[in-house]
Amino acid sequence: MADRDGKIWMDGQMVDWRDAKIHVLTHTLHYGCGAFEGVRAYNTANGTAIFRLEEHTDRLFNSAKILRMKIPFTKEEVNEAQKAVVRENKLESCYLRPLTWIGSQKLGVSPKGNQIHLMVAAWAWGAYLGEEGLKRGIRVKTSSYTRHHVNITMTQAKAVSNYTNSILANMEATDDGYDEALLLDSSGFVSEGAGENIFVIKNGVIYTPDLSAGALNGITRNTVFHIAKDLGLEIVQKRITRDEVYIADEAFFTGTAAEVTPIRELDRIELGSGSRGPITEKIQSAFFDIVGGRNPKYAHWLTKV
Ligand code: PMP
Repeated sequence: MADRDGKIWMDGQMVDWRDAKIHVLTHTLHYGCGAFEGVRAYNTANGTAIFRLEEHTDRLFNSAKILRMKIPFTKEEVNEAQKAVVRENKLESCYLRPLTWIGSQKLGVSPKGNQIHLMVAAWAWGAYLGEEGLKRGIRVKTSSYTRHHVNITMTQAKAVSNYTNSILANMEATDDGYDEALLLDSSGFVSEGAGENIFVIKNGVIYTPDLSAGALNGITRNTVFHIAKDLGLEIVQKRITRDEVYIADEAFFTGTAAEVTPIRELDRIELGSGSRGPITEKIQSAFFDIVGGRNPKYAHWLTKV
C-alpha cells in the first residue's frame, strides 16, 4: 500500500504517497494511543461529495479529546484537508483515512510534551464485505473475544488501540470461514461487529444495542435512524441477547466501510429466510440513495470536494 502514486496530506502539507513516512520511535506505534476516522466520498450527479464530513471530523476531535490529545489544526482545516486529498488524487469515489498520532520526541508511557500529528489519505475502496455480501448477506460468527468494557478502553473514541480487539475477532472469524465477527459485551449482550454496528429486525421493529454495550456511536448507525423514521419504522435501542439474533427475522451491519450489509447467518444458524430481508433491502436502498445524492432531504450531508 505504501508503494503508490498520489498524495497524502501530512501536518499541513501535500506529500508524495511514497514519502509519507514517520520514525520507528513514534509514540503511537509503541503504545497505541492515537485516533482515526473512516470516511467515504461518493460519486453523485453533482460530482464527488464526502458523506457526513462534519460529523466524522467532530468524532475525530472527540476521540482526540477523550485520549487527551490536542489536534494542532482546526476542524475547518481538517475538513479542507480531506476535500483536498480527494481532489489531488483525482478520486471519484473513495475511502478517506484521517489519523492523529503522537510523535517521536520521547518514549515512555507518558506522551506529555510530544508533538501531535495528523494525516489524511484517500484511496478507491469498494464494498468492504464484498459486493456479493451487500446482495446476499454475510455469514457471521460470535467471537470468543469480548468487546471492550466502557471503563477499560474508551469506547466512544475511535482509538487505534481499540482495534487489536477487532483484529483478533475478525481473524478468528475469517480463519473459521466466516465473513465477520460479532462481539458480545462483558455481560454477554450483543455489542457490535469488528468494524460495524448491528441491527436486528423482529416483527417489523428494528432493534440495536444501546451504546452502554461498548459499541461505537456509528455515523451510519445514525443515518439508519433517520432512514427508519422516514420509512415509518420504529427503532428501539436496548440490550440484545445472542439468541435474539438467532431468532430475528432479519439483521444487518452498518459502517462507513461496510455501508449497510445484510447478515444471513450467525454461528451457522440461518437468520429469517437466510438471505437479505425485505426491510434491510429498503433501508439499504434508501442509504445508497442518500449517499449517491438522490435524496434532496439529505443534500446537506454531502460536501462537494
Ligand atoms: N463500530 C466499529 C468498531 C467501527 O470500527 C465502525 C466503523 N467506523 C463502526 C462501528 C461504524 O461506525 P461508522 O458508521 O461511523 O463508520
